[in-house]
Formats: sequence, C-alpha cells, structure tokens
Amino acid sequence: MKKILIIVFSALSAISLALLIFTIVSLSGVRGRLEALILEEETFHQALEAPPQVQFVNQAALDLWAAQKEEAEETDDVAQFTSPEGILFRSQSKSWDQAKLADLYAELLLNKHGEEFNYLSQVIVLPQADENAAAFYEDHATTFSFGLPFPCFPREDVFAFYRTCGVITLYNGDEQNTVALQADSLSHEYGHHYTFFHMIGDLFIGTPYAQLRCADSSRIRTSGISDQDYWRNHHWYYFEIAAEDYVVLMGSPTTRHTGNYCDVRDLLGGTEGDTFPYRNIDVQENLMLPMASQVPGLAELFYSFIDEPAPSFAPKELTLSIEKDTSHYNLVTGSKSFTHYTIRWDKVYGEDAVYTLVCYDPDNYKDSLYPIRTVTQEEEAEGIIGNYVRVTGDMVHYWYDELDRGTKVFQVTVVCPDGSMYLSDPLTYTF
Ligand SMILES: [Zn+2]
Repeated sequence: MKKILIIVFSALSAISLALLIFTIVSLSGVRGRLEALILEEETFHQALEAPPQVQFVNQAALDLWAAQKEEAEETDDVAQFTSPEGILFRSQSKSWDQAKLADLYAELLLNKHGEEFNYLSQVIVLPQADENAAAFYEDHATTFSFGLPFPCFPREDVFAFYRTCGVITLYNGDEQNTVALQADSLSHEYGHHYTFFHMIGDLFIGTPYAQLRCADSSRIRTSGISDQDYWRNHHWYYFEIAAEDYVVLMGSPTTRHTGNYCDVRDLLGGTEGDTFPYRNIDVQENLMLPMASQVPGLAELFYSFIDEPAPSFAPKELTLSIEKDTSHYNLVTGSKSFTHYTIRWDKVYGEDAVYTLVCYDPDNYKDSLYPIRTVTQEEEAEGIIGNYVRVTGDMVHYWYDELDRGTKVFQVTVVCPDGSMYLSDPLTYTF
C-alpha cells in the first residue's frame, strides 16, 4: 500500500527549510500529476510566512495518493501472465493463451541466467510475421524516482535514477504457435539482454568479449551503418554475434531441436526433409566465425556472471573431402552427362551426434546458406549435391539442386546429445 506523502513544515523563519518525508515510489504515469505538486508552490510560500507551529499539509500530495488508480492501459493483449519475478508475458496472438505464456516463461528459465533476469520487464508475442526478424529485443530506460520535486527547489530538481529494462518481442505467434518453435528466438533475444547487461553495453572495442571474439575484426561491424546494412550483414554486427554466442554457450535444451534435411539422393528416393530452419542449419548465425564453443576462454567469460561453472566443451578436428562423379546415358533425346559431388567426413563426435552438411556462397552468405543433408545414427557421413541419377529399368531419373555453381563453402554442423554444438573446418570448392 502506498504511503500518503505529507510535507510537514515548521515555519521558524522565511528561510527555514521544510522537513520532508520521502517515500519511494514508482512514477510510471504519475509525472503529470506531480505537476500539481509544484503548482502548490504559492500555498507553500504562504505557509513559510505563517506563524510557527502551524502545520502545512500539502493537499496536492494527499490528493495524488488518494486518487483512484488509473484504469489499466488499453492494449491489444488477448492474454497476460506475470512471472513471480514480475516479468509480464503478453500475447496478442489468439494462438497464445495464458497457459502457453506460462510455458514460455518456463522455457525462458531453461536459459542460463543471473542477476540480469530481474531487469527483463516484458516478453510480447505478436501474431504477425515481420519482414526482417523473427524476434526483437529492446532496452527501455525506465525512470524510477525515489524522491519528489518540492516547492522550494527548482522544478527540475527531481531525484531520479535510471535502470534498463529489457523487452523481448516474438513475431509470427499465429504460425509459430508452440514454445518449441519460439524457443530459438526467445533464447537469442535473451542473449541480447544477457550480453548487453553484463558484457558489452554500448561498447564493444576494448571489452574482454571483443578481445576474445575479434579474430576477424575487419569484418565485424562495431557500429551501425544503415538499416539496410544491418539487415544485410546482421551476422557481422557484434551484438548479434554476442547474442548467438549466448545461445551456443548458455541456451536452453529446446533450442537444440534438429531438423532432418535431405539431399538430392534422399529426395530422389522419396524422402521429404524439413523446411523449418532449426538450429542444426546454423548452429551459430555466422558460420564464417569460429564456433563459440571452440573459442578458448569464451565460455568461461559468459559463465563468469552467474553462479555456475562453464561446461567443458571438447572440440575435435573435423575436416571434409569432396569427390566428383560423372555418368553418361544415351537418352531418347541424345547423350547426356550427369555430375554429382559427394562430400564426406568422419563422425568424430560419435554416432549419437547429429551432423548436418551445409553450404553457402561466401560472397552472399545470408541468402545462400543451405542445408544439404542431416546424418544421424547408422547413416553414412556424407551428402551429395549436383545432378544425381537413379536408373530403374529403362528409365533414368535425376534430381538437380543447382548447388554446383560458382564457389561454395561446405561445412558440417554438429549437435551432440549433451547440447554442445560444434562446427567443422570449412571446405571451399570452385566448380
Ligand atoms: Zn538479434
């Protein structure tokens, strides 16, 4: 219950100071009404001139605190859930009711967290997709005042301090309507909250994080150039790299859900793969950087802010080879050659790990990253690209993925049963 603020004055002389009783208040939406307090100045000065022992009661303050609470702010929310820490989960998607928001909170807890958790204020699920992003994180500098302006001080003399409150917005709630489908975005956005709070703030250069992560400093963007550049080179912005490092090093087990992606041979055999971009395509958004779990000291830095030791990652040497294979057939339409390429590796992380062969054009990374094939237990550690042929009777069937063009970088991502994730060395090949 809020205390009533009363300013009591003992008027000993015209230059006496008032005795103030402060109360700590949160001033959201209250600032306007505080103006009324300042307008009491004239009354206050009259009290200053009044005889001693006359008590001055600041009626504006009494009115302020006695007033009915304002109606809750109107929103488009269809459901809300408030966590025990006071984080407000809000849904504007009909696919997310209060119970699902509670599940989203439980999922958030599975991401490693420390003191910064108390500075997250809201998680919002919106129904619609966004053109550029799956989710969004923003800082709100919210003012909390613990004093009040009062008449004998200048109007701007308000005691206040600022604290940062994070807000996470998740898009496309109507379609991505399960916790599992939002877990990756939630973890990444919480990664922004964690890294801004503990590690980088407004600065990157000179931080311990930068010293560990600057192996390719010429490409890492340390300041914004334009909106267009940001979306184009999202994976090179230092704070995006940091958020992804968080997912790799501290993200929830749910973010480790893997998809099954199929190459030309699988597709020709009738196997249909996943299309949703699960974490095993890009175990970290930027595969051109060393994997977070393979950068010495990085996990220790991330875990230094919470009361838990860093897990011990165990990266291994993982290299790829490529082999070209061409076959010729006399078709009704004439002789035709078919060329495919087989990329192979060893299962150095064991039979139970999930291996996914991916490729990209190094000059157009963002739009060209493509999952070729996922390999799990019992399957050969290989993936095929190009024009793959299968002959049945007198029929020649083929499936062509057009990946055998220009220069491509091939890499294998690895998701281990314990949730650790690794990346192979790149294999660059010009066709
Ligand atoms: Zn981000």
